[in-house]
Amino acid sequence: MLIVPESKIADLMTPEAAFDAVEATFAAMARKSAYNFPVIREAIGHADALYGFKSGFDRESLVLGLKSGGYWPGNAEKGLTNHQSTIFLFDADTGKCSAIVGGNLLTALRTAAASAVSIKHLARQDSEVLGMIGAGHQSVFQMQAAVKQRNFKKVIGWNYHPEMLSRLADCAAELGLPFEEVSLETLGRDADVIISITSSFAPTLLDAHVTPGTHIACMGTDTKGKQEVEATLLKRATVFTDEIAQSISIGEAQHAVAAGLIAQSDITEIGAVINGTHPGRSSADEITLFDGTGVGLQDLAVAAKVVELAQQKGVALDVDF
Ligand code: NAD
Repeated sequence: MLIVPESKIADLMTPEAAFDAVEATFAAMARKSAYNFPVIREAIGHADALYGFKSGFDRESLVLGLKSGGYWPGNAEKGLTNHQSTIFLFDADTGKCSAIVGGNLLTALRTAAASAVSIKHLARQDSEVLGMIGAGHQSVFQMQAAVKQRNFKKVIGWNYHPEMLSRLADCAAELGLPFEEVSLETLGRDADVIISITSSFAPTLLDAHVTPGTHIACMGTDTKGKQEVEATLLKRATVFTDEIAQSISIGEAQHAVAAGLIAQSDITEIGAVINGTHPGRSSADEITLFDGTGVGLQDLAVAAKVVELAQQKGVALDVDF
């Protein structure tokens, strides 16, 4: 059994490799050859922690496994990341554990890859302004992956805690792009692509803020009750997602579906666009919205890639198990 510790991931995995792994996974999901098992997420009644696991199997690549972990709010005081995750891979022919891989950086890379895949397949080709809502840990990974997909000339941003916006400004500067802090009204009016990555439980981006032709990647809503955009926006937009079951239960679409504004049948898996069985954006005026809920197969795909790279570079620990 191979072990790839968290400390080795940054030198092994690239955003490009994560993008390819996630795009291929979404395509396999839409072909129904890869599927996620029901998600477990529980408040464990200790350390205020939320613990759970996401798992799945890809019959084409034979990647089988789970990501285990969750959220420990007291970790920051201990010098640890609040979100903790570890990915376990199993041999699909024998069930033996084949690898244990640190999952913290991989979670950020696979989440950023998902919105980047949506931008590649759904945003207008002439998109020039990237709007960021959210300036937390995930936001920089999102920006770094997004700018590779279109010829963005500028980044504009808004955050609930404005003092955190320097994180976006610094990231944009590293990418050689100007950054401007703006109101939500300006962000909705000027951005061609909007990424929302917050832990909000109430809509931040309103229907009235968004102008025709925008692509929106809603990446923060991954739990029942969370919400980043007004539900009526999903009625106006053409809605895509990673997985429909998660979109309507724990994703951004949960609110629009519960309110009867859209039906499950109105939501399309992004994999169908990747596979060419859905045309994707149909006009320059259409609003497209990607509900990125985060599926276990994304984690397994990037972990499998890391194991491959670690073996190539001889940095995986081989343990008799
Ligand atoms: P973080 O704690 O580092 O940052 C939280 C962000 O949300 C900050 O920008 C903060 O200002 C903002 N925020 C907090 N309260 C808010 C409110 N009431 N209204 C609007 N904004 C508010 O978190 P992070 O690690 O950057 O993760 C952001 C979100 O993304 C979380 O909800 C996390 O669960 C989710 N996430 C989703 C996926 C996925 O696959 N879809 C993967 C990882 C994380």
